[in-house]
Amino acid sequence: MKNLIIVIHILLTLLLVGCADKGVYVGEKKDGKRHGQGKFKWSDGDKYVGEFKDGKQDGQGTYTHSDGRKYVGEWKDGKKHGYGTLTYLNGEKYYGEFKDGKRNGQGTLTKPNGDKYVGEFKDGKQDGQGTYTHSDGRKYVGEWKDGYKTGQGTFYTSFGFNFKYNIHSSLPKDWVNEFYLIMNNLDKVIPLMPTNSFSSLDIYTWTCKSYLQQVEHTLQLTKCIDSSTDKPFKNKIGNTTGTSFFGRATGSFMVLEIPADEFKYNRIYRYSLIPHEYFHAFQFSLSNNFFFDIKWLAEGAAASFESLYTQQYYNKNHFKWAQNHVNIAVINNPKIFESYDESIEEDRTYSSSVFMVLALVKELKKLDITEEKAFKLIFNDFRRKNPSNDNWKKVFQEVFNITLEDFYLSLKNYTNDINSVLPSESLKLENIFPPPPPPPKSDTSSPVVKGSGYTSSNASATSNLFVLKEVTSEFSVGDIITFGDSKKEYEIREAKVLKKSESGNIQGIVLYKGFEFKISPGSGNIQGIVIKGAVGFKISPGMKVSVVKETDVEEPVRLVSPNGDVYVGEVMSGEPHGQGTLTLSSGNKYEGEFKDGIPWNGTLFVKNGNIFGKFVNGEWIKN
Ligand SMILES: [Zn+2]
Repeated sequence: MKNLIIVIHILLTLLLVGCADKGVYVGEKKDGKRHGQGKFKWSDGDKYVGEFKDGKQDGQGTYTHSDGRKYVGEWKDGKKHGYGTLTYLNGEKYYGEFKDGKRNGQGTLTKPNGDKYVGEFKDGKQDGQGTYTHSDGRKYVGEWKDGYKTGQGTFYTSFGFNFKYNIHSSLPKDWVNEFYLIMNNLDKVIPLMPTNSFSSLDIYTWTCKSYLQQVEHTLQLTKCIDSSTDKPFKNKIGNTTGTSFFGRATGSFMVLEIPADEFKYNRIYRYSLIPHEYFHAFQFSLSNNFFFDIKWLAEGAAASFESLYTQQYYNKNHFKWAQNHVNIAVINNPKIFESYDESIEEDRTYSSSVFMVLALVKELKKLDITEEKAFKLIFNDFRRKNPSNDNWKKVFQEVFNITLEDFYLSLKNYTNDINSVLPSESLKLENIFPPPPPPPKSDTSSPVVKGSGYTSSNASATSNLFVLKEVTSEFSVGDIITFGDSKKEYEIREAKVLKKSESGNIQGIVLYKGFEFKISPGSGNIQGIVIKGAVGFKISPGMKVSVVKETDVEEPVRLVSPNGDVYVGEVMSGEPHGQGTLTLSSGNKYEGEFKDGIPWNGTLFVKNGNIFGKFVNGEWIKN
């Protein structure tokens, strides 16, 4: 029996080996093995066209997987290795380094929705430093691990505000993902607009050991157990704990310390504290006078916003369940809620302050103001008028058209029950806040005419690669261009000067289908450009292509010389310029700065990694 299993095992092994290599080969051979240029088609449908060495893919080659993926690039020992472009069936595209068959090293990943990641990869996943740019301009620059953000990074909003995240590893992964989502939502609904003194906010968040505290009969509170081990950012924010926002000229920061029990009991507070503290940052951005601290207006607004958020995004009425401890003082002594100190007991979970804000909305509605507009007046317009602790009553009357005294008197018509003032559940935050002005765009009325050219008569609608003839000046990677009179902007992904001549200027564009950059040389001053998102774009012959915005090169350009030297790095006018690495066909390597194609300041390494010498201001100095 044992022998039979061994025999079957051997047979299976042989069978598998046989299958893995089954296929049809057409091409050069050496010693009976595939060697040199060839084509191989596997029985499972995979295809490879390119160089082989000792029976394996090695050198330049194109591999078409039967699942629709296509790889164009370098191979070593039968595996993707070196630089290459991998295109997925869903339109995703990766350009960059491969090692042992996987994305490893520096690379650029573009998604069909326009999102882009530029940075480090490890074993096929985003890992290391990287920048993720959303199609709407939002950007995350930071550290990645195993395909996820580690929580150390900066989120740049489309309006130019930036949040520096310090998210501690003690937080559950699903909370961290939700945190990113909430920050995105908030940026869309009430974006923080950068001001001269407030354009950046540090956020520190972690979880603390906690205990559950029974308060009255409905609400349970969790509290952090004060412990020095629970302060992971002590070196940056000292002993600050709890949840708070600090608006300061020397640097604003937000602290979100979340009791572990909040996760254990899945309480909505673990999320709602984010919009609450964010709202305080929003208040800070609206007014020069943050020291306005009339409590029911400051906290009542933040806590109401918090509940409107949970109502809209989680379908949970936080007003009813957490802010239902309205004290009778809202009716007979509302003035105490102007002060933090005088109303600690009467304003548990800010229920009474929230009640007063919601009652003010009701009173404004009586003046024929819509509910959305009423919230906008309280959340936005009042703050915009820079109320101070001295003049706020006057500002109150100006903005709401009611005197404070009259408002306090009107509260006598209410009962201290949150249910009597609840806002409508269909209210949407995006209808409260006015749409912000569009983010600054390149000024197309006076374009930066750095480069321009014309498309040719055989221009096609299905290509994303154009060869421009009659190029009056150079195009560079990252430049934003437009076609004809269209305002639609495209980004150049690759640019290459194909041939320069004195006579130059022949009009035309060559269609190229595929991903390789290979165009037979024509006459004249021709430049090829690859345009992101331009597949299917309709162009008419003779259409003008102009640069409307010059952008820095974000990804390495790769140039290959006829003798096999490979350059990866910054480029200007088609030549190495800036930082880059030149790997010579001999295996020697130069790393450093280039100037107009010439090694300028850098080091030359021989194949074994030893330093051979260096360039200083273009001058060669042997080691
Ligand atoms: Zn608050």
